[in-house]
Amino acid sequence: SERTLVLIKPDAVRRGLVGEILSRYERKGLAPVTLELRTIDGAMADAHYAEHVEKAFYPPLRDFVTSGPLVAAVLEGDQAVEVVRLLNGATDARKAAAGTVRGDLALSNRENLVHGSDSPESAAREIALWFPKLG
Ligand code: ATP
Repeated sequence: SERTLVLIKPDAVRRGLVGEILSRYERKGLAPVTLELRTIDGAMADAHYAEHVEKAFYPPLRDFVTSGPLVAAVLEGDQAVEVVRLLNGATDARKAAAGTVRGDLALSNRENLVHGSDSPESAAREIALWFPKLG
């Protein structure tokens, strides 16, 4: 079994989609280990998106992820990292397949509802960043 970090981003909270999105992960068989509603500041956004801070798309992304509460969760299950990314769909929601969170519910490459760790190594880093007290 494996753990991954999921963010249900501020657009999803504003649109009332938290239950819908969490339900998809749960029905798939992934179990929440911890889950919290949190509003992050710019420094936390920079730490989370360390690999993107120099990119042109980052300033508006930083504004977006700090714009209101998001849900941060650690989910656990067999191949959780890859499974969450399959359920989330392509980063650009306009191109994400039907049946995925982004494909079914979003139409933007920035406001794309969710984040999932992109590898087990990223998951370990991100879980330590978001939930330092987790084992
Ligand atoms: P996430 O890391 O959120 O799961 P991802 O791994 O599919 O998404 P990344 O390439 O890591 O995508 O980009 C991180 C986030 O930055 C995306 O989820 C999206 O919100 C935003 N983003 C990425 N590329 C662009 C872009 N070209 N224009 C605007 N926003 C972008």
